[in-house]
Amino acid sequence: MPIYEYHATGKKSCEHCAETFEIMQKLSDKSLKSCPVCHHPVSRKVSLPSPSNSNPTLQQGELEKHGFTQFKKVEKGVYEKTAGKGPRYISDKEDP
Ligand SMILES: [Zn+2]
Repeated sequence: MPIYEYHATGKKSCEHCAETFEIMQKLSDKSLKSCPVCHHPVSRKVSLPSPSNSNPTLQQGELEKHGFTQFKKVEKGVYEKTAGKGPRYISDKEDP
């Protein structure tokens, strides 16, 4: 489950929400609107550390999930498949 960070938005806060506090929520859960301790308004921090943010390149499994096929260049005109469906190799060389 992802951990979300919240902090108090109003002037009023308790010790719990004056500083950022973390809470574990399901993705389907609605974001908290108020501190669970003092019930003053809080807001969720937008910046969430996530592997996909630090690495803009899609992982191999992600590529396949999104229906991409990825080929890696082996030599001039020859490509080896690294992800997805399709032939293991493609080559634009003429058949002998
Ligand atoms: Zn509070």
